Amino acid sequence: MFSKVLIANRGEIALRIIRACKELGVATVAVHSTADTDAMHVRMADESVCIGPPAGKDSYLSVPAIISACEITGAEAIHPGYGFLSENAEFVQIVEDHGLKFIGPSAAHIRMMGDKITAKKTMIDLGVPCVPGSKGGVANLEEAHQIADAMGFPVIVKATAGGGGRGMKVAKTKADLDVAFGTARSEAKSVFGNDEVYIEKYLMLPRHIEVQVFGDGRGRAVHLGERDCSLQRRHQKVFEEAPGPCITPEIRAEIGKTCADAVAAIGYEGAGTIEFLFERDEFFFIEMNTRLQVEHPVTEAIFGIDLVKQQLRVAAGEEMTLHQDELSIKGHAIEVRICAEKLPNFTPCPGKITTYHAPGGLGVRMDSALYDGYTIPPYYDSLIGKLIVTGRDREGALARLKRALEELVIDGVDTTIPLFHALLREEAVLTGDYDIHWLEKWLEVHTFE
Ligand code: ADP
Repeated sequence: MFSKVLIANRGEIALRIIRACKELGVATVAVHSTADTDAMHVRMADESVCIGPPAGKDSYLSVPAIISACEITGAEAIHPGYGFLSENAEFVQIVEDHGLKFIGPSAAHIRMMGDKITAKKTMIDLGVPCVPGSKGGVANLEEAHQIADAMGFPVIVKATAGGGGRGMKVAKTKADLDVAFGTARSEAKSVFGNDEVYIEKYLMLPRHIEVQVFGDGRGRAVHLGERDCSLQRRHQKVFEEAPGPCITPEIRAEIGKTCADAVAAIGYEGAGTIEFLFERDEFFFIEMNTRLQVEHPVTEAIFGIDLVKQQLRVAAGEEMTLHQDELSIKGHAIEVRICAEKLPNFTPCPGKITTYHAPGGLGVRMDSALYDGYTIPPYYDSLIGKLIVTGRDREGALARLKRALEELVIDGVDTTIPLFHALLREEAVLTGDYDIHWLEKWLEVHTFE
């Protein structure tokens, strides 16, 4: 095992990783911007290094500063968390060139999956079912029309380099395609610096189902079932659960094996997520995320496994201790993402936390870097906490979520907590009967009084 690991991230995920390191007896180095001097991850780590001014590009995304922090402190490995540099193949290459270990997959695998067209082609070759669409990039409007006409509308134009729900535009009819194609391209160019786009059939009633996989980098891999993340706003998840309410053990075993075999075949190392749209009992691959995901705790909860410890072990060259026949699901888990945002428009709302009280009790996990008197800086993502509950079944998890939300106190800034109180009064949420478009439609008509 490593003796010292640097965590190239902030907020709840930095704490999450520090906790796993501590339990393995690994010393930790936090890095932080000048805006995060008082942040909890800095306090909890054994050492900390200031790596730059507030803006992410000058600190948490500054590769020279992070590599220097490793050299100064003698850290042997870097855990990237999610976001920031977690899916940056160039960064991984630089880390390795400096004789350090990146805790995650190889640069080649990140590159393969980061380009969505290459990812889709790879998955098709590996026998993973994909959303029907263009074979590769679509060069111009004429080609876009030919493909869309042949496939039938609606279609979605997506950025090859896309992520975070950006660079995606839907064309409901032929008349919308010119605008959708143009805006997806220009958004892709400005956000990702690459204007290549491709076209997919736009599915009308799918659920978002993603499969957690884990590989040892030597050709063995397992799956840890699925998560249903269908409740989304602007293609971003807000409420996630495992197991998926509409996935049977037979369906799980089948799609899980397909995914585990696919990542085993490419010699993938560490945690990954294969994302699908699921409609009428059919899976359609959309992308693979080559990192730990925000919603990983729901999988940990039902499998009783610490995914970050597994990442650390495999990265350190130890044997992967996960075996498919020993992995079984117990209960049902739900995560809600709590953001410092003002409803109904979800406007970011940074500021000082006057009171913070985390819920507790059986089956409740609160992953957050908040504390009384902490000031949320305005420079970063608005996610301030994840409340994860586990119950004997879905009904038990929902009851526990309601109870835990009632205990949770975050005063001083507006948060999305009222969204979850309201959702827990909705029949569709209580029965699990929704698709990826449900929340957007509900938000159009719901008023938060
Ligand atoms: P990103 O990498 O930006 O998150 P994804 O490809 O993972 O993009 O898609 C994010 C979300 O966008 C999906 O969970 C789904 O809600 C929606 N989406 C993507 N592709 C399609 C499609 N072909 N049909 C319908 N919805 C889609």
